[in-house]
Amino acid sequence: MPGKSYNLFEMVQTQFDHIAGILGLDSATADLLRNPMREYQFLIPVRMDDGNVRIFRGFRVQHNDARGPCKGGVRFHPQETIDTMRALAMLMSWKCAVADIPLGGSKGGVICDPHNLSPREQEQICRGWVRQLASNIGPMNDVPAPEIMTTAQHMLWMLDEYESIHGTTSPGFITGKPVGLGGSLGRKEATGYGVIITLREALAELGIEPQNTVASVQGFGNVAQNAIRLYHQIGGKVVCVSCWDQSDQTSYSFKKKDGIDLDTLLSITDQFGGIHKDKARDLGYEILEADAWLEQNVDILIPAALEEQITGENASKINKQVKIIAEGANSPTTAEADEIIKKRKIFVLPDFLANAGGVVCSYFEQVQSNMNYYWEKDEVLGKLDLKMTSAFIAVNELAKRRKLYMRDAAYVIGVSRVAQACKDRGWV
Ligand code: GLU
Repeated sequence: MPGKSYNLFEMVQTQFDHIAGILGLDSATADLLRNPMREYQFLIPVRMDDGNVRIFRGFRVQHNDARGPCKGGVRFHPQETIDTMRALAMLMSWKCAVADIPLGGSKGGVICDPHNLSPREQEQICRGWVRQLASNIGPMNDVPAPEIMTTAQHMLWMLDEYESIHGTTSPGFITGKPVGLGGSLGRKEATGYGVIITLREALAELGIEPQNTVASVQGFGNVAQNAIRLYHQIGGKVVCVSCWDQSDQTSYSFKKKDGIDLDTLLSITDQFGGIHKDKARDLGYEILEADAWLEQNVDILIPAALEEQITGENASKINKQVKIIAEGANSPTTAEADEIIKKRKIFVLPDFLANAGGVVCSYFEQVQSNMNYYWEKDEVLGKLDLKMTSAFIAVNELAKRRKLYMRDAAYVIGVSRVAQACKDRGWV
């Protein structure tokens, strides 16, 4: 997580500089794209349930909007930093470009821990965040969405505040809303499903049948849960998940050799994706240390929790059997770990390709909201499959043709599309 010596923004800037070199970007374009165009930092005073006022710090970073309105989630996390926001906003620009949707990149957040906040206090933070940004975000310039520890309910409070301020109904202001109140069917599933759609394509590329594969997953929030559901449907088996246990504030890996049962595990999971360790033990799960998920004898690793989880220290523990890493989280792999993975020739589905399903479906939601005409779930998921498959094919073809690492190939496509839009507009 942020706050350690590792700086995520410096890492993505270094990755960007490498790609700028491959693409031969001129210095003005490189200067424009290696930093966010706009950033907002502000304080949100909230009267707490005990009557005292607490001050929360909020952020919104808009990296680039040459291809369309900025788009990106709002995170609630106790260790949030402006540099993590900058890094993740930049990744959103590449993500929307790789998925080929007409949106730019942004990210926002508030330093807070919703585990320790009442629903009313969370509502006040959501409304305060929108009040601070009301004239700088909106359906035509920057569209928020759920992220780490934010939900459809948070999005609805934010929408309500935005509409109250502007005196309009503007369901296209925000995505990830509840279905029936401007949300899209399939949005909840979209990020996790998208990870598995790209995984399905990668397996086909490697000539491996999904039903002969076994996976280990880090995280058990919305992305991980839906990824596991679709992976089970295509025949795969998950033997280990790693996540947070709120009861003793520690992460563990939960292992079941014969394969986990998703619905049983969900019945002992809190709203933030934390599994209760003692209840899992009662259900026959082995409780292992946090990092054990990446040591398992599996074909596929799916990091679907937070950034900076596969590091220079633990990457050497990755089991020899692992053939594919499908990055459900944003930036789960540090630069040092990436070098180790590259040398071992593990097939990587990089974050801003693999987890683009969420923002792709957000785009569909915004289109539906603006039209006030909502599609059937099959239509949404069919369109999602098409977009994710096309994005995978484009990146994979380029990787093969130019002998590039998959992450570099994804970067080349994402960065060159954003750079081209900046040039076409006459910005550089
Ligand atoms: N927070 C998600 C992401 O990182 C979704 C963003 C969105 O839907 O705008 O891709």
